[in-house]
Amino acid sequence: MTARLIDGKALSDQIKADVAERVRALKQRGVTPGLAVVLVGDDPASHVYVRNKAAACEKAGLYSQVIRLPADIPEDQLLDIVRGLNGDPDIHGILVQLPLPAHLNAGKVIETIAAEKDVDGFHVSNAGLLMTGRPLFRPCTPYGVMKMLESENVSLWGAEAVVVGASNIVGKPMAMLMLAAGATVTLCNSKTRDLAAQTRRADVLVVATGKPGMVTGDMIKPGAVVIDVGINRSASGKLVGDVDFESARKVAGAITPVPGGVGPMTIAMLLVNTLEAAERSAVPATID
Ligand code: NDP
Repeated sequence: MTARLIDGKALSDQIKADVAERVRALKQRGVTPGLAVVLVGDDPASHVYVRNKAAACEKAGLYSQVIRLPADIPEDQLLDIVRGLNGDPDIHGILVQLPLPAHLNAGKVIETIAAEKDVDGFHVSNAGLLMTGRPLFRPCTPYGVMKMLESENVSLWGAEAVVVGASNIVGKPMAMLMLAAGATVTLCNSKTRDLAAQTRRADVLVVATGKPGMVTGDMIKPGAVVIDVGINRSASGKLVGDVDFESARKVAGAITPVPGGVGPMTIAMLLVNTLEAAERSAVPATID
């Protein structure tokens, strides 16, 4: 058996085309969705991500503003810049590219973003809303995974879902979204005693650890849907996931490739979140 490939590139193109259509409609009502991306320092990978985000915005007709700041910017200055964006009516979404230089408190910076402009969904209020089943912004990567499962008609209702990796930006919100969709969710971390025993139970397995190739075919239930969130650069410069693709594809029913799987979905969902923030801001005030 060879697993069906889940094509994140094609699905993300479809979502972006849909966003472009909705942006056109919103512009006719006088609102252009605007995203501000704050980039501190000169981490090369962050520069690439930010460039890609800005290019995707432009292509879909959104306004984007990239604010590049020196690595040694004092924290209070950065917080003032974020507060300025909170009050800017042309900006509907604010994203601070992580990781931040060590002298900056990432939690404090994210908590300074107005929750209604927090298109990454990392603010504690948005994490709390997601946990209590009233999401405002779903974090882009797990949101993209949910769209992929939906497009593949994978039913989560009553399914065994296992998430390997429990970060605030991927694993934990992923678990919450699948739980809300009716799955029985197991969330694993680096202390999980027998990881293979957990992963082998999964009808849907999501892996987000940053450990290249750590989930191998023998850890997968035959026919399972395997979503590989990992993006790692191998010694030869190739992009590889957290799942060992060659052994996994022989066992899984469906699998995402790296690259071309979850990666493109993350940017597409960022556009969706920014568009929806702008749509919400454009709702005319009702007079009681
Ligand atoms: P973090 O480093 O923040 O978290 C990694 C998680 O994996 C932790 O919970 C850690 O456990 C767990 N973990 C590490 N090793 C093991 C192990 N051997 N067994 C079980 N669990 C383990 O990573 P992120 O969530 O930020 O990113 C994960 C991966 O996803 C990376 O490859 C990253 O590049 C990629 N990524 C891809 C995105 C995309 O757009 N496709 C977006 C964001 C990330 P513990 O909590 O115990 O430390």
